Amino acid sequence: MKNINKNLFVANLTNKQPTKDITLDDIKFKIKKITSKKEKIVKLSNDLIFSKKSIPIIAGPNGVESRELIFKVAKFLKKQGIKILRGHAYKPLTFPYRSKNYKESMSQGMDWLDEVKRHTGMKIVTEVTEIRYLDKICSTADILQIGSRNMQNLELLRECALTNKTIILKRHFGASLRDMLGAAEHILVEGNENLILCERGVSSPHTHKDTSRFMLDVQAIVALKELIKYPVISDPSHASFWAPWVSPLALASVAAGCDGLIIEMHPNPKKSAVDPLQPLDFKEFANLKKKLKKIASILGKKII
Ligand code: PEP
Ligand code: MN
Repeated sequence: MKNINKNLFVANLTNKQPTKDITLDDIKFKIKKITSKKEKIVKLSNDLIFSKKSIPIIAGPNGVESRELIFKVAKFLKKQGIKILRGHAYKPLTFPYRSKNYKESMSQGMDWLDEVKRHTGMKIVTEVTEIRYLDKICSTADILQIGSRNMQNLELLRECALTNKTIILKRHFGASLRDMLGAAEHILVEGNENLILCERGVSSPHTHKDTSRFMLDVQAIVALKELIKYPVISDPSHASFWAPWVSPLALASVAAGCDGLIIEMHPNPKKSAVDPLQPLDFKEFANLKKKLKKIASILGKKII
């Protein structure tokens, strides 16, 4: 018994054997930049900082379905004091078939985002699915989102890092934190430290509802905050897939110490071309924001 324990300890320390957990060796050699002890803040402007004090909300529809939709949502969010608009012009889909009312808006969608950005002054987050779209996306986006499905697409990570734009790296729904931090390290070695990590739910045998595909791993937020000094944000929308659960899970994420949130919303969720069960409507969003402010203030933080 004594020997077994000793062997396990040695394996853990020297990392000669494959492991899914983070070892001392990893921290020393493999993920040394992402686990560096220096405090990191991601600053997009003087009043928009992912830091210990402020918790920015990133909100918007799933896809940039139309000019009308993105303007409607942006105007509402701007009135709510939200500074970052999300919306994907390029979208990965789990299955190749697209419903009749779903059109990936691609470069047209980027033009709408550009227009809405100039009109409202909001910062834009959008997903990069392929390197060939990067130039177009970078002419508008302030933050590049690397979606969960691309977490270990190393070429994509590298090219996104080289743009020096702020990057949101989403955790794959089956990835360990070790794998996620390894992916993050790939971005940092390219010299881009404008990095935000996002928990967005994991595959789990039980999600407690047949329409919920993933389970928000609140524990990952706490574990990441213990390991790294970069901002960690939470996306309860893509985790639960179920609008009534988004608000409680957003509140739980803030209570657990997240540094920001992604909330999917739509003026008429039932009409959302993709994932219509998950977006909040305007009223639900406004209610959530009020509750978030209360939790944040207990923690000495501000929702922005
Ligand atoms: C999204 O943000 O719209 C999205 C598809 O996220 P994820 O990669 O986490 O599924
Ligand atoms: Mn989505």
